Amino acid sequence: MSVSANNPDRTSWLHVSKNSDFPIQNIPFGVFLTRDDIITIGTRIGDTAIDLGALHQLGYFDGIALTDDIFLQDSLNDFIADGRKTWRAVRNRIAEIFDSNNKTLKNNTKHKERILFRLDEIEMQLPVQIGDYTDFYSSIEHATNVGSMFRDPDNALLPNWLHIPVGYHGRSSSIIPSGIPVHRPQGQILPPNSDTPIFSPSKMVDFELEMAFITTDANDLGEPIPIGEAEEYIFGLVMLNDWSARDIQKWEYVPLGPFLAKNFASSISPWIVTLDALEPFRVPGPKPLKKQLPYLQYKGSKSYDIHLEVAIRPKSAKELVVSKTNFKYMYWNMSQQLAHHTINGCPVNSGDMMGSGTISGPTPDSYGSMLELTWKGEKPIILKDGKQRTFIEDFDTVIMRGHCEKDGTRIGFGEISTQLLPVFKK
Ligand code: CA
Repeated sequence: MSVSANNPDRTSWLHVSKNSDFPIQNIPFGVFLTRDDIITIGTRIGDTAIDLGALHQLGYFDGIALTDDIFLQDSLNDFIADGRKTWRAVRNRIAEIFDSNNKTLKNNTKHKERILFRLDEIEMQLPVQIGDYTDFYSSIEHATNVGSMFRDPDNALLPNWLHIPVGYHGRSSSIIPSGIPVHRPQGQILPPNSDTPIFSPSKMVDFELEMAFITTDANDLGEPIPIGEAEEYIFGLVMLNDWSARDIQKWEYVPLGPFLAKNFASSISPWIVTLDALEPFRVPGPKPLKKQLPYLQYKGSKSYDIHLEVAIRPKSAKELVVSKTNFKYMYWNMSQQLAHHTINGCPVNSGDMMGSGTISGPTPDSYGSMLELTWKGEKPIILKDGKQRTFIEDFDTVIMRGHCEKDGTRIGFGEISTQLLPVFKK
């Protein structure tokens, strides 16, 4: 089935402002609470949210094999499990319904009242129930920076790094959508020049700018996913802020890797942009620096040109953009990550989330964490109010934005906006 929803010439009868992340070519999927407190699956064109449950009940998806309640759910897991053919059919149909040339819904005021919402009438929820969350470490620039800082600039990459898309299993219970504030975590920290840890609020709370992909049911226990098929099982992408407490991390991470420094919160953007919508923005990835094993070798372009930025907004000043980078810099791509994740027969389910790892580019203004931007706190950033930041302070809001742009078509992710609150008190 062709992806007619991507037609760059199509316009919508819904208003879309010029620099919107959500033209009719995007058609992302999300879950929201409506003004009547009903939870539903929806999409978005411009600044209008569209209730797919209502559209389905009113017959607009006739002819597509969908169960009656597929959109009347509090997560996209079942819809995602229906597979790529169904996602495509639904996206294509939505594009037709809202095409400027189609007057059917446009002229039906009663239907529009049930289907369309302003953004201030809805509240975005987590789009999927995330069963398993894996986080990779796939930016060579990030891994090199961190290795240089904490180990040895001459041997910044560990011996396995150029052979394996390194990753670890994260925790899904603390994944939250944009808008939910996060408390500063506390834990064990080893003070400088000491061999005895103290219990303290983290003084090095950091963001990690990442992208994450959401999978569908992919394989049975024992069955690897071949790299050439991996993209068939990727529903779409969100932006991810993988909050990190660097001082807790430094003390705890040997030998099993990050634990409490990483699992107190991970924020995601609420609209899942489908891999189909990102098709026009494919680009070749970096050339491998070492020959990769056959199960990690791929053909064609498997990277995506997604412009990303991070801003910090203190309590009483305007935001400052502190980093601009791009998803295309990632050394290991999503297909390699998924092929590697399943090469041992590990099953992947509908609604699993896989983070890319912090996305850093080649220049110091394109690093994806405060750890790197301020080089362990040695080079503070001056915010718009004249105050310095080495890490994130209480009441700061961290904002991440991402979009693709080519030949006049812009497809974006909106933003993740998360405020850091002081330590939790009962
Ligand atoms: Ca991470």
